[in-house]
Amino acid sequence: KSTKATAAKAPNPQRRTVRLTHPDRVYWPEEGVTKEGLADYYTEVWRYIAPHIVGRPLALLRAPSGIDGQTFFQKHAWKGINTNVVEVQDPAEKDDEPYVAINDLDGLIGLVQAAVLEIHPWGSTLADWERPDRIIMDLDPGEGVEWQTVIDGAEETRKRLEAAGLNAFVKTSGGKGLHVCAPLKPSARWPAVKAFCKGIADSMAKDSPDKYVATITKSKRRGKILIDYLRNQRGMTAVAPYSTRARPGAAVSMPLAWDELSADIGPAYFTVENTPARLQSLKADPWTDFTGAARPLKTVRQKKT
Ligand code: ATP
Ligand code: MN
Ligand code: MN
Repeated sequence: KSTKATAAKAPNPQRRTVRLTHPDRVYWPEEGVTKEGLADYYTEVWRYIAPHIVGRPLALLRAPSGIDGQTFFQKHAWKGINTNVVEVQDPAEKDDEPYVAINDLDGLIGLVQAAVLEIHPWGSTLADWERPDRIIMDLDPGEGVEWQTVIDGAEETRKRLEAAGLNAFVKTSGGKGLHVCAPLKPSARWPAVKAFCKGIADSMAKDSPDKYVATITKSKRRGKILIDYLRNQRGMTAVAPYSTRARPGAAVSMPLAWDELSADIGPAYFTVENTPARLQSLKADPWTDFTGAARPLKTVRQKKT
């Protein structure tokens, strides 16, 4: 492989020193993506994914035999964990098992070594577990919902976040839907952030009951989009931008510019295979300003009695 021009701009710890055992193990059989192929993918996207997965508790979907084998959704550290992966203690739950975090590319490759095929970070960082630095509204289309309706739902969610003084970004889930995310200056605590997100979901369902629901009940979801606000609670997670999905197709969750939303780009359009080409052809990651666009959530102050 030739050296890419972009490599010069890459942050320092681009180096990869973790040795993979069984590099030829196949994780996505249909696409022939191996453990080593996954490590190469994450090395390629490292500088884009890093701000979203470094320094926060991570839940991990592991699939030691690939996507067709058994999978584990793992919230805590395990025995024999790679030494580049960091164990962290929840400051509010001293007796709890340690959580998993990473600091650098080697930490990420340590996760690949452990057959981690999906990375689901918390919405708050290790610097402040109680105050989230992002909101994630998860749009889950029920059966029979057209893709354009999901796009409209994302735009509607964006409008409401912006009306509250926040900046909104969109990504594909790599599965069936879209995620609308808003970076926060960590100030409001989890309960206030959750209440705010519930407010958005409830008002969308109230204003357009034919299009949106805000409650999980499966039977009510047919033909509608669930505005799943429940990612926004302490301890809950959502798949990271640029994370792969342990599903057929080797899709990834892809940050998009708002004007890229179209019929041409479905929720699982971007994959391990076509993402490197996308990043090389883009002038900038559409989420470049994500961190800088953080605003504090202005919550209604409770009167003390
Ligand atoms: P889709 O577009 O298909 O809805 P998604 O990423 O929004 O994709 P899921 O993969 O269904 O949705 O996951 C929903 C959330 O539940 C995720 O954000 C994840 O953090 C959490 N989750 C996923 N798998 C498990 C599991 N086995 N146990 C507990 N929580 C999980
Ligand atoms: Mn979803
Ligand atoms: Mn959901």
